[in-house]
This record gives sequence, C-alpha cells and structure tokens, in this order.
Amino acid sequence: MPDRVQSPHPDIERILLTEPQIKARIAELGARISRDYAGRELTLVSVLKGSVIFLGDLMRAITVDCSVDFIGLSSYSGTKSSGVVRLTLDLRESPEGKDILIVEDIVDTGLTIHYLLENLKTRSPRSLEICAFLNKAECRQREVGLKYVGFDIPDEFVVGFGLDHNERFRNLPYVGVMRPNGGK
Ligand code: 5GP
Repeated sequence: MPDRVQSPHPDIERILLTEPQIKARIAELGARISRDYAGRELTLVSVLKGSVIFLGDLMRAITVDCSVDFIGLSSYSGTKSSGVVRLTLDLRESPEGKDILIVEDIVDTGLTIHYLLENLKTRSPRSLEICAFLNKAECRQREVGLKYVGFDIPDEFVVGFGLDHNERFRNLPYVGVMRPNGGK
C-alpha cells in the first residue's frame, strides 16, 4: 500500500520527520533492540502519554518476547518545561529483577528522564536502559545515557506522532514544527 500523502495541518509550519522516515528508523531500532535482548525477556516502560504511538510501532518491530507497562510523568505546561517532575501514574508491576527499557517520546532538558531513572533504580531492575524517539541534545541540563535514539533534532518545539501541544496534534502521523501562535 502506498504511504499516505501528507498535507500538513494548518498549524504546522513544516514537517521535520515524514511518516516513511519514521517507519524506516523504527524498523532499525526494533532490529537492534531484538539483537541486544536476544534470549531475554524485555519489559518496555512507556512514559505516558507522548510515547504511545512510538511504543505501538516499536513493539511490533521487536521480535523478542516483551511485555509493556505504563508510567505517567508530568513536567510540561504549554511549550515550556516547568522543571518540576511529578509522578502522575505508577507502574502496575514491580520492575524488580526485570530487563527494563524505558520508551520515551523526547528527551529535552533531561530532567524528566533523570527523575525516572533515579526512581526506577531504587526498585532494583536487572537492567535499565532508555529508548528515546527524539533527542534535543543541545538543551540538556542533566546528562543521561540514551542507549537508543530515533532522531536527533534541533531545539524547536515539535508535535505529532504522539507529541502534543496542550493535548492536540498527537494524531499527526509525522513530526512537525508548530507555527508561532499555532495551537491557539
Ligand atoms: P525534559 O524533562 O527532558 O525537558 O522534557 C521531557 C518531556 O517534555 C517530554 O517527555 C515531552 O513530554 C516534553 N517535551 C520536551 N520537548 C518537547 C517538544 O518539542 N514537543 C513536545 N510536544 N513535548 C516536548
């Protein structure tokens, strides 16, 4: 089936990552993760809500046995990080003794993922790694080791493919940069 024709949403200034680009990269990530975790049972911890679209595609590209759990964190309001991270929903299952791979939508300052790493470390997982769909390396305030990264992107506020602006745009099948005053 041909890929969908993409006419950007009126609030989107430009498309940064197209659907075919994203699809191809997720296939590569899935293959790498499957090789790295061969013979092990993987637990994906998806950070709500931004990572769920990425999670759905990534899971289907992973060929080792895996289960999924969800965690809710909040630090953003509008287009700015508040810097204060809150746990809004905890895991259902204990991560103790498990091979945990955190699935995150985007790492920006690194404050959110740093908080999550510290939190999960205290619960004694067997291993703990991060797979981030997007990485804004130049914005980092906390260094965090990202084992798997989909795309390195510049310091611009992006939406689509799970990422929102005030809960909108998550359903866009691409990643785009919002127009100034977009989302109003
Ligand atoms: P950090 O704590 O690393 O600064 O931010 C991580 C969280 O902020 C992400 O999980 C995401 O929810 C949000 N975030 C950071 N940059 C962006 C962006 O460009 N677009 C959107 N929609 N959310 C972002």
